[in-house]
This record gives sequence, C-alpha cells and structure tokens, in this order.
Amino acid sequence: MYHHPLLLTPGPTPIPERIQRVIQEPMIGHRTKEFEAIAEKAYKGLQPVFGSKNEVMIFTSSGTSALEASMVNILNPDDHVAVIVSGAFGNRYKQIAQTYFHNVHVFDVPWGEAVDVNAFIDFLKSLPEQVTAVYSQYCETSTSVLHPIHELGHALHENYPETYFVVDGVSCVGAVDADLERDHIDVLVSGSQKAIMLPPGLAFAAYSDRAKARFAEVKTPRFYLDFNKYIASAENNSTPFTPNVSLYKGVAAYADFVAEQGFENVIQRHYVIRDGLRAALKALDLPLLVKDEYASPTVTAFVPTSPTEVSTIKNELLNRFNITIAGGQGKLKGQILRIGHLGQIDTADILQCVSALEIILSELRHESYVGKGTTAYLEVVKAYV
Ligand SMILES: *Cc1c(COP(=O)(O)O)cnc(C)c1O
Repeated sequence: MYHHPLLLTPGPTPIPERIQRVIQEPMIGHRTKEFEAIAEKAYKGLQPVFGSKNEVMIFTSSGTSALEASMVNILNPDDHVAVIVSGAFGNRYKQIAQTYFHNVHVFDVPWGEAVDVNAFIDFLKSLPEQVTAVYSQYCETSTSVLHPIHELGHALHENYPETYFVVDGVSCVGAVDADLERDHIDVLVSGSQKAIMLPPGLAFAAYSDRAKARFAEVKTPRFYLDFNKYIASAENNSTPFTPNVSLYKGVAAYADFVAEQGFENVIQRHYVIRDGLRAALKALDLPLLVKDEYASPTVTAFVPTSPTEVSTIKNELLNRFNITIAGGQGKLKGQILRIGHLGQIDTADILQCVSALEIILSELRHESYVGKGTTAYLEVVKAYV
C-alpha cells in the first residue's frame, strides 16, 4: 500500500512548499543590493520569534555551532560556569564547556524531568565562586521536556543579576512564546531545521544589550564564531563570510509565513497537537515519559512496554506507513520513541500517525486498538479546527 512519506523527527522537519521554492531559485551574489534586502528581512523577521529587540545573528553552520559560540563569546578562560544537564543536549553543552574551560559546574537533572528552579538557585549558592553564566536547554529534545525558562530567567535575575543566562532553544524557538527581553535571557540560540521549518544548515543567536557589550570584551580565542563580526556585518545587512544565500531566502520567506499566519496561531497549533497526541498515546496504553506540565509542544516521548515494542513500532511505522519517528538518545537509547511535531506539520499528519499506531499495536498486542487513539486525539483537536 502506498503512503506519502511523513517525517516526524524532532529535526529535520518537513518544509513549507513556498520556502522550498525560494530555496531553489537561481543563485545570486552575496555582495549585492539584492542580497542585502534579503538579509535585512531575515535578520529583522526573526526578531519577534525570539522576542529580541536586536537583530538575530545568522550562521552558516548547524545548531551546535551556535551552542559553541554562545560559550566562547560570553566566557573568559578562568570564569566559572554552570550547565544544567537534563539529557543529550545538556551533555553537549557540558562537553563544549569542558573543551574550553576548567571551572565547569554541572547541575544534573534526572532525564525526563524539568529543572527545579529553587533547587538550582540553591546549587548556585553552594558553589565556591559566583558563576559568570548559566546554560540551559529550553526544550531538551532527547527527553521532550520543556524547561521553565521564564521562571528560571526571573529567579536568576533576582538572585544573581550579573550572571548571564544563555538558552539553547534549537528545538522549540518558533513554536513557543520565547521572549529574550521579558525572560532576562542574554543569548538565545536556535537552528534552521526544527521549529523554524527550514532545511538544516543555519544557526541563529539573539542577544541582549548587555550581552553585546560582553562579547566585545571577552578574551577567549575564536575566529569564525566571533559574534562581534556577525553583529557588525548585520548592521550593514551583510555577512562576514559567504552565507548560505539560498537559506537566507528561506528565512525571509519563513518570516513572511509567520507574519501571515500570526505567530500566536503558529504557537497554538503546536500546543493543540501536543495535547491531542498525548491523549492518544494514553488511550493506546503507551506511557508518556514526561509529565503534562513540562511536556514540549514540539516533540513527545513515550515508553513502549518492551524492547520488542520499541523496535517493532519504529520499524513498522517506517516500512508499512512511510512514517519516520525518532528513537532515544544517550541513556534512553532503545527505551523510548519520540514523535516530532514541529516544522510543516498539521493536525491531520499526527492523526495519520496515531491511526498507524492503532493498527501496529492491535497486531502486536492481539487486542483491538482501532479507534481508541484517534478518538482521544480528535476529542482534543476538534475544538480548534
Ligand atoms: C538539534 C539540537 C541541537 C543541535 O543541532 P545541530 O543542528 O545538530 O548541530 C542542539 N540543541 C538542541 C536542543 C537540539 O534539539
């Protein structure tokens, strides 16, 4: 039986056709007026998505480059730094920090849980030195937890007003009410291939005014990823190095797309899908990894009841239904499955996935699940469509 391919991984994601089209246009030079107009639209168009009053920097490299840049542009070699580790991407921040710096303080959070803000502030108080900066994921993609960034930003601002707050929003900026200014974030990074609905290949970073001043005085060596170069270039709607011209056009098209749909509606679509999918998975006796209050609107992790279920569900979705979902990462490898619902995804796409799960589970467990997940899903989603 033929099925349309459906990419439900937490990056890369399906891409809107209009974005795909501009990316395929003939090449233009990057030192031209035509490119400057595109770059201006791209830098400015991302501002509301990040809640930034400054232009958002764009890098021709994957999301991890912006993670690394957000460390080497904020921290001096002898600074103390705190990293919240709640999954594979928190581990990545830790590894980058340990590559450059020796005073790295790790706050471990059990995988599948959100950071406890009060416990984290107590942890900072217990350290021998005040940290220069705190690093956290916004959504920890490997567990599908959305951390309470608003509460964390406000608690840091209250207790440690001089500490910089740096947030990895790669897997949720574009789908959540991110607001750098309101939430006292100094650097908010993201990537193109997740909620921003573009192909892989670009990274983004928004920054506060005081972070900009900090970038100019930090001594840690860096060249390609020196934020000062990108900020200076952006002032002239330019780039320090050859940019991915096609993807800049994609960013400009994305900005139009969001403006037309209304950003609040884009955000709401992700939350409705999240709530519907969670109701469906519960109805299918597929336990959820994360509690409702910390569930990300971009990715959902569930825990099949046996290793056979883990592999059978993932393989059958792909081989029989042409649906790609993701497995676990790091210590959750082989234990969980993750359904991405970000990028160009709508309520019908997830309905298709839920109905495929019903058929697979009915065979696997020798009892009928037909209609159970889809009913629960539609009961949630019907109020919004
Ligand atoms: C995907 C992701 C990254 C890394 O992005 P790459 O583009 O693979 O370098 C970083 N952080 C989070 C939270 C992510 O989901």
